[in-house]
Amino acid sequence: MTDDIILRAEGIRKSYGDLEILKGVDFSIRKGESCSIVGKSGSGKSTLLNVLALLDKKDGGKIFYDGSDTDLFSEKDVVDLRRSMIGFVFQNSLLFEDFSAFENVLITLTIAGLKQKEAMEKAEDVLISVGLKERMSHRPKELSGGERQRVAIARAICNDAGLVFLDEPTGSLDEESKSNVEELLFSHMMRKERSLVIVTHDADLSMKADSRYVLRGGILERV
Ligand code: ADP
Ligand code: MG
Repeated sequence: MTDDIILRAEGIRKSYGDLEILKGVDFSIRKGESCSIVGKSGSGKSTLLNVLALLDKKDGGKIFYDGSDTDLFSEKDVVDLRRSMIGFVFQNSLLFEDFSAFENVLITLTIAGLKQKEAMEKAEDVLISVGLKERMSHRPKELSGGERQRVAIARAICNDAGLVFLDEPTGSLDEESKSNVEELLFSHMMRKERSLVIVTHDADLSMKADSRYVLRGGILERV
């Protein structure tokens, strides 16, 4: 059975000038599966995530979403796919500092095209689901590192993204916030049958994933 594979990448290559970062990466992920990717700093983990999420262009190889070749997608198709299916939590997640946690999520939903009332209800639901019921009106600077990361995750999942990419989601967190975020990723999100691709330095977090990979020498190896 291959029809529950939501993303498949074959032979992905990417260089910056003369620097060859990805040298033929193969990867696939199924509905409801979690994958972790570890690798040394500078090995190309963020580059790979950006390419897989169609935020950055590849130099070679193929990427299929739900079996469709993304090389055949128009720019609009790519935007639609990202809006409807993909969530992304960046390495240094940028929140709008002048807006509350609630508004940070609301803006994302409004951009996604939801009507005001619907967007407001959804923003509230999502923030409750990541455990921030009591923090909705706080601005980012009034939140702890773990809470900020929860807002970033809320933003990434508020469009009901089936596939969420997370680039070192617990990188800057203390132990307690780390385990809270891990709990959020592996309980709540998995219950909803989301698929996760998590880049991490954290061995514990990596071990919790269904499939584990290491990026080494520009190649992704299953471990
Ligand atoms: P990782 O996330 O594994 O630490 P990155 O994917 O961020 O690694 O970067 C991999 C390599 O590519 C690094 O050596 C970095 O300096 C280089 N690199 C990343 N982005 C760019 C860019 N936009 N232009 C040139 N080089 C880049
Ligand atoms: Mg990185």
